[in-house]
Amino acid sequence: MGDLSKNFSKLEIMCPCGCGADKISPVLIKKLQKVRNIIGRPLIITSGVRCEFYNESIKASMSSSHVPDDSGTGNAVDIACTNSKERYELVEVAQKFFQRIGISGGSYGGFIHLDVDRSKAQEVMWLY
Ligand SMILES: [Zn+2]
Repeated sequence: MGDLSKNFSKLEIMCPCGCGADKISPVLIKKLQKVRNIIGRPLIITSGVRCEFYNESIKASMSSSHVPDDSGTGNAVDIACTNSKERYELVEVAQKFFQRIGISGGSYGGFIHLDVDRSKAQEVMWLY
């Protein structure tokens, strides 16, 4: 049992640098839990909230939706996804709830980025 939703906990989405930033969009978590319910197996979050310092340290985009917005809330998660079967399933289900999806293959480690950032283009899917 998670403390954010049935299957997700703050520890999983907390900034890994030690700063303690762990405020994440409840809308994002609600959608993520719906995806999890349909998939029916654990979804491993590889990145949730990232403070500016940490985000810069991993050379991620300055305008990343993982970085807390003006209200101090993170709006993105990356879900581990390293094989084609899981990728197909995750993208299919995620599209029911998310309007912004990024797909990473090989060199960046293999994950699906999901975010609820309303300040950016909707109904888009991009590659890393
Ligand atoms: Zn941090």
